[in-house]
Amino acid sequence: MTRSRQTPEKPWTMLGALKWTASYFHSHGIDSPRASAEILLAHALELQRIDLYVRYDQPLQPAELDRYKSLIRRRIEREPVAYITGEKEFWSLSFRVSPAVLIPRPETESLVEAALAVLSENEPVRIWEPGTGSGAVSVAIARERSHCRIFSSDRSLEALAVARQNAVRHEVIDRVGFFAADWFEAFCCRERPFDAVVSNPPYIRRADMEGLAPEISRFEPRQALDGGPDGLDAVRRLIREAPRYLSPEGVLLLEIGYDQGPAVRDIVKSSGEYAAPEILKDYGGNPRVLKVRRR
Ligand code: GLN
Repeated sequence: MTRSRQTPEKPWTMLGALKWTASYFHSHGIDSPRASAEILLAHALELQRIDLYVRYDQPLQPAELDRYKSLIRRRIEREPVAYITGEKEFWSLSFRVSPAVLIPRPETESLVEAALAVLSENEPVRIWEPGTGSGAVSVAIARERSHCRIFSSDRSLEALAVARQNAVRHEVIDRVGFFAADWFEAFCCRERPFDAVVSNPPYIRRADMEGLAPEISRFEPRQALDGGPDGLDAVRRLIREAPRYLSPEGVLLLEIGYDQGPAVRDIVKSSGEYAAPEILKDYGGNPRVLKVRRR
């Protein structure tokens, strides 16, 4: 941070620093420049963002400025704000995130809504979420359904550690259990115990991976995004294998890419295990969630 007309004796105020950063971010093509500046300054000062407003004219101490500058540098290198602060809001809850987990996306709230729509409020229901990542989906469902029992798996132990912290933080650890598994591997059950299997699997076409924003392609876990040559490797596997774990009339809910509906319908049909599929839309009006019932 350099400014030509400022004398060294006159320190940066919070407002001055925010304005400078917003225009710096803007000139580097960083999304939401002012909001990002505020989130990072609040993080550097260990304040809530709202607290900045009453302190706009306060000077920044040299150590505070140094901390803030190092966060600005990370953002300029395209590290996502959520990894810098270690937090992301989803379902109006604050989730801990690390580079071991995909940052929860707003469109994934549609997956939670779809699950809540099929899960009874009063009956004990059993849910499995393979590929849980940060645990955001399981935790959001558990918050809304006090009678549910959720089994959340991921092949990444680092991700499971983050997910467990989120379940503890949001006080649902008594109904969410975590275990390490690669999709359905290492899980053998004869009694088909799940009322629902819910998942946001990787579904990006491999050829599209490099064209993603640098925030995604350089920082987020590839294994949470790369769905293989046609993007549907994990989706196909989940559709084919889920019936072995679903109770009669159990429901499979999967987040999918906006243009994958027709291909996913074909996979469902060819499995022969389900009633007619529905593709539900997200808040942006894009097809986003596959819903199918075992028959
Ligand atoms: N919607 C995510 C993205 O755009 C992809 C999530 C996924 O592959 N599960 O980056």
